[in-house]
Amino acid sequence: MHKHYGALHAVDGIDLRVERGEIFGLIGHNGAGKSTLFKMILGLVPATSGDIRVSGATVQGRDFRAARRHLGYLPENVVLYDNLNGLETLHFFARLKGAPLSQCQALLDRVGLAHAGKRSVREYSKGMRQRLGFAQALLGNPQVLLLDEPTNGLDPQAIRDFYATLRELQAGGVTIVITSHILAELQERVDRLAILAAGKLQALGSVQALRGQAQMPLTIELALNEADIPAAVLALAPLAGITTTANANASGLSISCPRGAKMAVLGALGPLGAKVLDVNIIEPSLEDVYFGLREN
Ligand code: ATP
Repeated sequence: MHKHYGALHAVDGIDLRVERGEIFGLIGHNGAGKSTLFKMILGLVPATSGDIRVSGATVQGRDFRAARRHLGYLPENVVLYDNLNGLETLHFFARLKGAPLSQCQALLDRVGLAHAGKRSVREYSKGMRQRLGFAQALLGNPQVLLLDEPTNGLDPQAIRDFYATLRELQAGGVTIVITSHILAELQERVDRLAILAAGKLQALGSVQALRGQAQMPLTIELALNEADIPAAVLALAPLAGITTTANANASGLSISCPRGAKMAVLGALGPLGAKVLDVNIIEPSLEDVYFGLREN
């Protein structure tokens, strides 16, 4: 699909399928096209060309009105009416969406705002506004959730609770697409993700698959007595593509090795026996992968 604003190609030929019940991450630089993609999926911004389907219904098509009711959206900037309180705000959105008003108090509880429902949203902190926005997105028990930087402004406990809620929703079959610039936060929590760059799909897959695509080396940390470091360096010398660095405090060796050489490294260390006091294999983080792919 494409979305052009004059000469600017905000979304430039993205072809993507998110499976039912997936937690799918969308990452990319500022202006990469993430929010535009969400707005296209919601039918808020018409595509210049291409076809988007949500739960089988074509966006802009005849049956999309019905499908739209099963879509929940948390925009990047939640717009709230300052003269309403939290509960009134949810009632307002519930009416707009045709969702039962009876859900609203339970949703406030779910996002940790049970005691703030009667307070004016004018007095809400940034995190409270974000929580209320999330509650709004959950109105009507959506089957598909689009969450644009949902943890922006949340405290660490709230972030943890938020992802626990996503897991519960996922267990109920809800499909979730989430954007975030906090890559460490997404790393363990998404099933797959897409990296967008200048409106194009740069990479797609699980974090583990992207590590393979980016051909990022692994780091293997060995704990050794200082006197045994030369023997370890010697044992590894015949292996290609490996670099070894003695740790600053001389308590061991840091080995950078291609992913495919992991077992060869461990095999080569076998003869050292109990001289190897400990081994720690460190996978590249999603952030490493993100920058690694950009350099490729
Ligand atoms: P961020 O991480 O900063 O939220 P994003 O990936 O969500 O970025 P988008 O908001 O989708 O990026 O913007 C993609 C591109 O489209 C940007 O270059 C932006 O300036 C442009 N754009 C978005 N909306 C419009 C619009 N209404 N008119 C013109 N250009 C637009």
